[in-house]
Amino acid sequence: MTDTHVDVLIIGAGISGIGAAVHLQDKQPGKSYVILEARDSIGGTWDLFRYPGIRSDSDLHTFCYAFKPWLEDRAIADADSILRYIREAATENRVEHHIRFAHRVREATWSSSDGCWTVVAERGADREPVRFTATWLFCAGGYYRYDSAHVPELPGIERFGGEIVHPQFWPEDLDYAGKRVLVIGSGATAMTIVPAIAREAAHVTMLQRTPTYVVAIPAVDPITERLRRWLGPARAHGIARRKNVRLGSLVYKASRRYPNLIRKLIRAANVRALPEGYDVDAHFNPPYDPWDQRMCVVPDGDLFRAIRSREASIVTDHIETFTEDGIALKSGERIEADIVVTATGLELQALAGVSYNVDGSPVDLSDTITYKGMMLTGMPNFLYAIGYTNASWTLKVDLVCEHFCRLLTLMDEHGHGSCVPDSPHADAPTRPLLDFAAGYVLRSVEKFPKQGASAPWELNMDYRRDRKVLVHGPVGDHMTFAAARPAPQPLPVAVA
Ligand SMILES: Cc1cc2nc3c(=O)[nH]c(=O)nc-3n(C[C@H](O)[C@H](O)[C@H](O)COP(=O)(O)OP(=O)(O)OC[C@H]3O[C@@H](n4cnc5c(N)ncnc54)[C@H](O)[C@@H]3O)c2cc1C
Repeated sequence: MTDTHVDVLIIGAGISGIGAAVHLQDKQPGKSYVILEARDSIGGTWDLFRYPGIRSDSDLHTFCYAFKPWLEDRAIADADSILRYIREAATENRVEHHIRFAHRVREATWSSSDGCWTVVAERGADREPVRFTATWLFCAGGYYRYDSAHVPELPGIERFGGEIVHPQFWPEDLDYAGKRVLVIGSGATAMTIVPAIAREAAHVTMLQRTPTYVVAIPAVDPITERLRRWLGPARAHGIARRKNVRLGSLVYKASRRYPNLIRKLIRAANVRALPEGYDVDAHFNPPYDPWDQRMCVVPDGDLFRAIRSREASIVTDHIETFTEDGIALKSGERIEADIVVTATGLELQALAGVSYNVDGSPVDLSDTITYKGMMLTGMPNFLYAIGYTNASWTLKVDLVCEHFCRLLTLMDEHGHGSCVPDSPHADAPTRPLLDFAAGYVLRSVEKFPKQGASAPWELNMDYRRDRKVLVHGPVGDHMTFAAARPAPQPLPVAVA
């Protein structure tokens, strides 16, 4: 193994890892860092998914970094534009030469006596072990597995004679023109694929067990568009970002406080967008309240357009069994298909799937409790980037990076080398970190850390409140510090 020591080791070169690097070199230019990325390219999510129509469902004025405005006209952007934006951020800030590609982090071990993490990664196809030491470990490895996806048990699937595709592994050469396509799922991915392929396919059926709240929003925001013309893209972006943060927070809070009113408003908008006589209640009226699960947005109502034009239809039912040429449903209805797309979700993975160890004891992540939504009890000098589920992911990650840089300044001023969040009182109640009722969350929730019932251990999902705490609030509260130690010497070469 080779050994390299850095102040901060970042896992992952997705939008979060690149953002963390830029914040760090901007506000802590004296700190050394490296990014270990398992893949051969940057961008994470926005480089991995290749299904037709792949796009954000957040507006890019809030999904972009605080330090780099979104200057394109489309607020709901396709993956290529987002990837271009992340690459630009990396290039403009000279982050690339800090990235070690094809390095998959497997183990991270904290030693209090050395005051640092030892991180073992596998390099390249032959998985050569490589070792790094780092004073801080920043996990920006996303929240789901890249090498596998969730597919529920599909009865009789082996009988189906057509092609079966999961959106996470979309074949580049899949020819759906003139074919009958059945998309199983009701999340953002299904809502994106259906209108994107509807024109070319013979017909697209979206089969869902339970409806989702679906809201049409303009892909190009008319207010921002006008501002762009008057003020130019950069100043318009600043106003659009503040507007969209406020609007998003208002809609979320109104949904939690007045669920019936919001449900009625969404239903009324759906009725207007769908053909006369369409069974809105069967297909667009979920049995849960708005924002119990993430809402789906459809840019310019593209899903509704596909339904109106009869290129696509929605069926709400349960699968009885697959047949040779399609699916038989519990209701007795049959759907014929040449291609089945299983838009059935992600397989969640906590903190990059790394095996963590602190002072000789393996860490069970479900025993840890979040601190300010960025650190974990029992894990010294460890940060993680998990964004909001009710707003743009990046809004939160930017704040985490700001607070981290403030914490580093405080520690340097006081000669601290490490810190660990205090635990809440042993009797204090805890609940899942991902407190969200979506099926894909519920399936994996016990693998993730928990949150407490009060600050700083409770996960805050409100950007403006988080901003007050993380950018302007106290640093180092509810934390135990240890003195700095001499920088570690390179470790002796170990036999792998
Ligand atoms: C299809 C899709 C659409 C989405 N749309 C939105 C949206 O519109 N708005 C929103 O807020 N959120 C959205 N999300 C959530 C989205 O994933 C995040 O917003 C954001 O892109 C996550 O960025 P990230 O850098 O934290 O993680 P990722 O994009 O997952 O990147 C993680 C990186 O870490 C690397 N990595 C992981 N484990 C290791 C390891 N052990 N060693 C080394 N490297 C590792 C991965 O290879 C990857 O490059 C979407 C998610 C999906 C799947």
